[in-house]
Amino acid sequence: MAIERTLSIIKPDAVAKDVIGQIYSRFENAGLKIIAARMVKLSRAEAEGFYAEHRERPFFKDLVDFMMSGPVMVQVLEGDNAIAKNRELMGATNPKEADKGTIRADFADSIDANAVHGSDSATAATKEIAFFFPETQTYSR
Ligand code: UDP
Repeated sequence: MAIERTLSIIKPDAVAKDVIGQIYSRFENAGLKIIAARMVKLSRAEAEGFYAEHRERPFFKDLVDFMMSGPVMVQVLEGDNAIAKNRELMGATNPKEADKGTIRADFADSIDANAVHGSDSATAATKEIAFFFPETQTYSR
């Protein structure tokens, strides 16, 4: 299996619930190392830029407003198959459809306030990591 990097965001709803530590434990227990992290309060321009691919979707404005509604915790995860592994830990976009024991099943309230973001491809991961972290601020080990 390939060592990959992926971008993870703990969204404002989960930060407000004080479950950063519980979510970090799930990453670490699954063999995903946190190799960069910072807390950020996104500006409108940043939230719109990050989700630019969804610009034409009906939920875009609500999504941007939600992502700006409080601080988020942003991290780079590294490990075997990290992109798919993180998506598996997250569960389905809609927490009502998320498998039992996934982050979204356990911590998310709705499809809008769904606790976490994770890159969905290698291309997205590269772009999303660069959006938040210069290479010099990541610490593989
Ligand atoms: N989203 C939403 N309503 C929808 C679909 C998506 O609010 O009907 C939000 C939701 O927060 C989701 C994000 O838009 O996490 C990005 O959507 P995507 O389909 O990429 O889901 P994800 O990759 O986050 O599971």
